[in-house]
Amino acid sequence: MMQNIAILGSTGSIGRQTVAAAKRLGIRVAALTANRSTELLEAQARELHPELVAVCDENAARELKTALADTGIRVLGGAEALTEAAAMPGTDCVVTAVSGSVGLRPTLAAIEQKKRIALANKETLVCAGEIVMARARECGAEIIPVDSEHSAIFQSLAGRAPGELARILLTASGGPFRGLTREQTYYKTPAEAVAHPNWSMGAKISVDSATMMNKGLEFIEAMHLFSVEPDRISVLIHPQSVVHSAVELVDGTVIAQLGVPDMGLPIQYALTYPERAASAAERLDLFRTGALEFFEPDLENTPCLALAMDAARRGGGAPCVLSAANEAAVALFLQGRISFGQIYECTVAALENISIISRPGLEQLLELDREARDFVQSRWGSNNP
Ligand code: MG
Repeated sequence: MMQNIAILGSTGSIGRQTVAAAKRLGIRVAALTANRSTELLEAQARELHPELVAVCDENAARELKTALADTGIRVLGGAEALTEAAAMPGTDCVVTAVSGSVGLRPTLAAIEQKKRIALANKETLVCAGEIVMARARECGAEIIPVDSEHSAIFQSLAGRAPGELARILLTASGGPFRGLTREQTYYKTPAEAVAHPNWSMGAKISVDSATMMNKGLEFIEAMHLFSVEPDRISVLIHPQSVVHSAVELVDGTVIAQLGVPDMGLPIQYALTYPERAASAAERLDLFRTGALEFFEPDLENTPCLALAMDAARRGGGAPCVLSAANEAAVALFLQGRISFGQIYECTVAALENISIISRPGLEQLLELDREARDFVQSRWGSNNP
């Protein structure tokens, strides 16, 4: 069980659930970070009394510093503040619950300090999976996935030797637009896209679930976390979200992890691993779940998933460009500047127009990430809302 944790992105959906899990488990929260200062961040700081609170926005950090002046809590501002919170001495685990590739540098900084990474920031592995996993092995830092599918795979593989894994069965609910054609979803609104049938999540990941880019990013995340090639990962549409993913072992045995769709469980497991602790989570009642269905994905009508699987096979800088372009496109979609269908168009155009390096280093990846965002922003950012 972890004793002292830092939560990067504490005001988001995973961040708030991590705060709740830490309180329930009696784990001290020593550092909090958020993109902007909010009433929630201030309230969390007052309740948890961390040593450090970091806010990316400098002006917001100054305001928060004034607001928390009576508490003695250190408040830092700027992008580097996130890294400082991640590498802060005295914590044994960093929960990376930020959205997007902004999580990359802080994650690497925490790995250097041999801290456990409870990884809820998939873009970090999508962008720089080889570098991050290699560094974690060299430093002896554990990476425990929080993403529900990867937590399920991790739990299903507990105690298995690496050579015993034959295939990963990555499940997907199919999102709110399952069964619709590309034409039918082209003009779907942000409000329709973020209404997920089974999981309650932040806006970016909800849109990614609707395009199924999320499953594509998870496909790439799984390759890195479990050292498997793309052709050993199968995506299964499973609308009930009861089987959170499974593994097929070399002897043909399939081991799956099942449960109610509740992010509190994978969060708790990443904090208590290898132990388990009691939880108040709703129990899975198999008498009431009804039939469990599994379908092949419809790649024709979920082109973002097909594009991500393609980028996974291409490797090098392709997943980084994919993820960054998608992030920029989703932001424009949420601002009402592009249509739902254009998220795919922006991302595919970035992959076609940016020269992909085959073995990029960290600085080159960060440069590719910037280039992909700038490309999307310059072509579509001035569209009228
Ligand atoms: Mg997931």
